[in-house]
Amino acid sequence: MHRVTLIPGDGIGPSITDAAVRVIEAAGVSVEWERVEAGLPAIEKYKDPLPQAVLDSIQKNRVALKGPLTTPVGSGFRSINVALRKEFDLYANVRPARSFEGVSSVHGELDLVIVRENTEEFYSGIEHYIDPQRSAAETIGVVTRAGSERILKYAYEYARAHNRKKVTTVHKANILKYTGGLFLDVSRNVGKDYPEIVTEDRIIDNMAMQMVMKPHQFDVIVTTNLFGDILSDLASGLVGGLGLAPGANIGYSASIFEAVHGSAPDIAGKNLANPAAVILAGVMMLHHLKESAAAERIERCVRAVIKEGKNVTRDLNPAGVGTVEMTQAIVDRIHASS
Ligand code: NAD
Repeated sequence: MHRVTLIPGDGIGPSITDAAVRVIEAAGVSVEWERVEAGLPAIEKYKDPLPQAVLDSIQKNRVALKGPLTTPVGSGFRSINVALRKEFDLYANVRPARSFEGVSSVHGELDLVIVRENTEEFYSGIEHYIDPQRSAAETIGVVTRAGSERILKYAYEYARAHNRKKVTTVHKANILKYTGGLFLDVSRNVGKDYPEIVTEDRIIDNMAMQMVMKPHQFDVIVTTNLFGDILSDLASGLVGGLGLAPGANIGYSASIFEAVHGSAPDIAGKNLANPAAVILAGVMMLHHLKESAAAERIERCVRAVIKEGKNVTRDLNPAGVGTVEMTQAIVDRIHASS
């Protein structure tokens, strides 16, 4: 029996995390889910977006599955997602983008992984208006040698463990000579310890174009926080969109698994959300929990349902079905595969 913290989140979060729980249960993995509220529902109930009970639960269980949490844009409380990553020092954000049979994409088959530094740079939270008139604002992006070393080592170790051939470091060291320069310098040094892996680097603006035009040249991509956030949405667009993109936030003492996407307020409560991204985040979680057979079975069934293309949500097929029906189709496949 695994004990896992479950944060349903807000917006589409509760419906898609429910889907993931159903699918994991259907695969026969024994999980005791400890449900805790964060974000908007926690503000309503406890007047606190990140109650101590959430932190205690993750501290104790060391593994969490999380739905998206809304962050007010431009004002209001700071991101709870970022706060959780900082609180548990979840320094590695791993976001695979692998194509799906049955989902049309410009570039056909694609399989790349973005490893994003998850705790530093422009997400450090050091920002303010410089005067009461709010005539200017500044955000300080802190990049440390230690923080760069651990994420770059993580990326290379990931590449080695998953038999990947190339690591591309993405930066803006031509302009950000200190933060970008430090990250690039560390990447070149770390790369020397992995001679079997091709090491290269790209400036972010060129990288954005290359990923859209010729994504097959990339394998593992490692980069700083903000660039990683943007490139992983871009990568999800190359393989079918945010509804299919899972992610893992990995630290030394805890890990939180979630979809790349946010709370999607435009489709919340309409049975429209694609549950696949968070189900696949659940698959990453099961690998982490050494439940790889169940993880592989679930992924096969998700891919089979998507390949068939009938019982999928409308982001994939305009004549498709709802979240609940797609989840049921995946559960049925899992039962049929046992
Ligand atoms: P979003 O990722 O929520 O949505 C972007 C677009 O993708 C929308 O059109 C949405 O309908 C669509 N989409 C997202 N997930 C989908 C799914 N599962 N199925 C089908 N379509 C899906 O991004 P946004 O609208 O910019 O952000 C909304 C909120 O989410 C913001 O408050 C933002 O801060 C927050 N957010 C949270 C996380 C997180 O919890 N880790 C991540 C990103 C954004």
